[in-house]
Amino acid sequence: MKAVGVDLGGSHVMAAVVDDDGAIKQRAEHEVVDRAFESVAKTVGDAIREVLEGKLKDVAIGVGSPGNVDLATGAIRYSPNFGWHDAPLGQSLRENLGLPVFIGNDARCATLGEHTFGTGRGTANFVLITLGTGIGGGIVAEGNLLLGNAGGAGELGHHQVRATDGFICGCGKIGCFEAQASGTGLLRHAFAVGSSFPRSQLVAGKPEKLGSKAIRRAAESGEPHALAAWNRYIDDLSRGLANIIAFVNPELIALGGGVASAGDFMLNAVRPKVDELTTMVPRGQTKIVEASLGNDAGAIGAATMARRGGLTTKEAS
Ligand SMILES: [Zn+2]
Repeated sequence: MKAVGVDLGGSHVMAAVVDDDGAIKQRAEHEVVDRAFESVAKTVGDAIREVLEGKLKDVAIGVGSPGNVDLATGAIRYSPNFGWHDAPLGQSLRENLGLPVFIGNDARCATLGEHTFGTGRGTANFVLITLGTGIGGGIVAEGNLLLGNAGGAGELGHHQVRATDGFICGCGKIGCFEAQASGTGLLRHAFAVGSSFPRSQLVAGKPEKLGSKAIRRAAESGEPHALAAWNRYIDDLSRGLANIIAFVNPELIALGGGVASAGDFMLNAVRPKVDELTTMVPRGQTKIVEASLGNDAGAIGAATMARRGGLTTKEAS
């Protein structure tokens, strides 16, 4: 059966026809202009119709959406990104398209994609962490994606790594992994150490234009202000990774998202610090690498969910 995977984000929708080997054969992208539920559901339907060229037959649909998902019905229980509560996304798409539709959390779908077809392929215990505006991720334990009691397992961004001296997190706590180690966290570190570098132009007068990549590149070139921010960032990232290793003891952690494209510059700094902070499980047993599917992981994982009939093999059986 043909499968379409949809990556639903706050600003755009990407629908892709994905083959059995996880390769994207065709894609359609639509902008999200209005975040009201009916409008977004229509945009998702339009993107699916476009990528299928109107041929709505013998195909299963998987959608990765932000928020907590009722996996049985495909309703979004709540999504802070969209401001939705109990939004019946699965039902709406089934009625619109007349096709089987499966909905999963976007980060869990990306984890399934990366585990099935990316760097995690062949591993039994695997973690994906995406370092973007926030931190998303997912956990594969004993070969299956961990869903938890209400589909909420894998919210890796909200354990505290600096509970007393950290930045305020979007969730209201202080020093969450996400607040300290996302791309946004790197920017915050650059502002936080700014007063020690009075002559630095790194963050001067243009906070809205400054991206985490600019700071990372400046750090790579040895610029002192950026390097100080980067070192603090690496400390906090390593603390979070060591915590996750203690929770999950995975054989592999893949880092995705904008900041992780730093590759070896990041990985070579993080690996020894994580080892230092790993105390209760054997050190050096978790490989930390860059994720391989990039922004396509979500759509590929959503298509895998559609083909399988759920996020895990247990659901499908
Ligand atoms: Zn938080």
